[in-house]
Amino acid sequence: MKRTAYIGQLTPTHAGQTVTLQGWVNRRRDLGGLIFLELRDRSGLVQVQVEPDSLAFAQADQLRAEYVAEIEGVYQARPEAQRKGGSADYEVIAGRVRVLNTAKTPPFELDRGDSVAEDIRLKYRYLDLRRPEMQRHLLLRSAAVAAITSFLAGEGFVQVETPMLTKSTPEGARDFLVPSRLNPGEFYALPQSPQLFKQLLMISGMDRYYQLARCFRDEDLRADRQPDFTQLDMELSFVDQEDVLELNERLMAHVFRETLGVELSLPFPRMTYHDAMDQYGSDKPDLRFDLVFHDVTDLFRGGEFKAFADAPCVKALVAPELTRKQIDELERVAKQNGARGLAWLKRDGMAFTGGISKFVSEQADALMTATGVPEGGTLLFSAGPWKTAVSALGAVRLALRDLFDLAATGSAYHVSWVTDFPQLEFDEDSNTWTYMHHPFTAPHPDDVALFGTERQGEIRAQAYDLVLNGFEVGGGSIRIHDPVVQGQMFQAIGFTPQQAQEKFGFFLDALTYGTPPHGGIAWGFDRLIMVMTGASSIREVIAFPKNNRGVDLMAEAPSPVERSQLADIGLHLIETD
Ligand code: ASP
Repeated sequence: MKRTAYIGQLTPTHAGQTVTLQGWVNRRRDLGGLIFLELRDRSGLVQVQVEPDSLAFAQADQLRAEYVAEIEGVYQARPEAQRKGGSADYEVIAGRVRVLNTAKTPPFELDRGDSVAEDIRLKYRYLDLRRPEMQRHLLLRSAAVAAITSFLAGEGFVQVETPMLTKSTPEGARDFLVPSRLNPGEFYALPQSPQLFKQLLMISGMDRYYQLARCFRDEDLRADRQPDFTQLDMELSFVDQEDVLELNERLMAHVFRETLGVELSLPFPRMTYHDAMDQYGSDKPDLRFDLVFHDVTDLFRGGEFKAFADAPCVKALVAPELTRKQIDELERVAKQNGARGLAWLKRDGMAFTGGISKFVSEQADALMTATGVPEGGTLLFSAGPWKTAVSALGAVRLALRDLFDLAATGSAYHVSWVTDFPQLEFDEDSNTWTYMHHPFTAPHPDDVALFGTERQGEIRAQAYDLVLNGFEVGGGSIRIHDPVVQGQMFQAIGFTPQQAQEKFGFFLDALTYGTPPHGGIAWGFDRLIMVMTGASSIREVIAFPKNNRGVDLMAEAPSPVERSQLADIGLHLIETD
């Protein structure tokens, strides 16, 4: 079998030539004694015409949708009257047709893949993946891997694989555990990330490491999460934050250029965590559109409207004219995100109407000046403790984006950095301090002295996130390389030296043998490809994903196992409701 070209490689210069193509029958139509086939391969579709008196006819007549065929014929321009412009102006006049294989009638029409229930698509994923859209996703993904690999090799990075069966790495999720048959009663954890190993590689003198690493986190699933997912993981020695950001900017620009032909402008804008939250209500703000918050706390301080008078924070957002129904919907969003409600005002000339207008006559002028709300526009307010107030309004901001298609007006891709995350976060549930990124992240050198004081919540981390169109597509930090500081960090999050030793003894030991200053980042690779392709979920860019209940519907995993297998690993199942 000799394919002369992929369908997508055929150009007008092939006109008049005999070509051999291999692929699947996308569609068959019979018209006026002729058979018209659409042949599909990874790269495209072409129409094939089979004439009734040709040698090819008998074979072609057997072909049905999704049969596998080899077609030899002359590539030529279609008659003038049938041309529409582009590659569809050419067709193949079949000289010889070989049926390479038959196919059962597919359980869904591949052409209608978008409207088919996702569960059916996932059950027959191998058919779903034949669809041009899915092939485009996987091809772009593969091109991105190639771009990353060649770029990093050129920058002196070494690719190293780290273990899958290992010990817990703290990234804030639950571990997937694997029982050990050889060591009854003991378990491996699948890595939540290669964090400890990549730092160990820096201690080993590897200097620059990367890996497209499979990571495992047992958490509740959403459209942009999977229990096993891929990170582009990297670590560099003798660097500061600036070095890591600069290299990643060049890498990201390279990937966009090589895969999409899109030029990103460098350097990427930067915003501190505090400003991102304060102005956009999110630590991953979608900056394709502006819609920035206005701080109006002082305008209401001690005023007539009691709910705002003594609130620690009141923020306002200028929205277009909204219907009552839209306001109700936005209020629901605000409440889902922790707000008690969503106060609003509509500008009518030099006054406000609706919502809380009864209470704001004193502030009307000042509010108009502070927010710039135009005639007919709506002001939306959120009040409360700073983080609650801004987060709730941040969710409203995104709901407005979706309602009015606000992101469509900006550039298609907006990449930025969010920096200076807090080192520690207070967890109300357990009443303890915990790490915000992971416990190996280095604090800002000016803030180290705050460990163990009542101001430790103010410690800034040398941590950064890469944000694309409102998605966190990467996150990393400069790491602690001083064992004393590492000890302070463990103490701050309530680990006794014994507990730290039990969990990470091997790593803490290694830190004492000459650790270079180092730092790194990991990109959420699936999520990046999702945004780059415009897909609606990361399941669309992973060849064989799990559904939102964590089930692989095609392979039927997870599944029960034989009793004997359980016995081998010393496990006994107990009934639960
Ligand atoms: N290990 C981190 C993560 O998975 C990334 C990093 O700090 O490099 O989020």
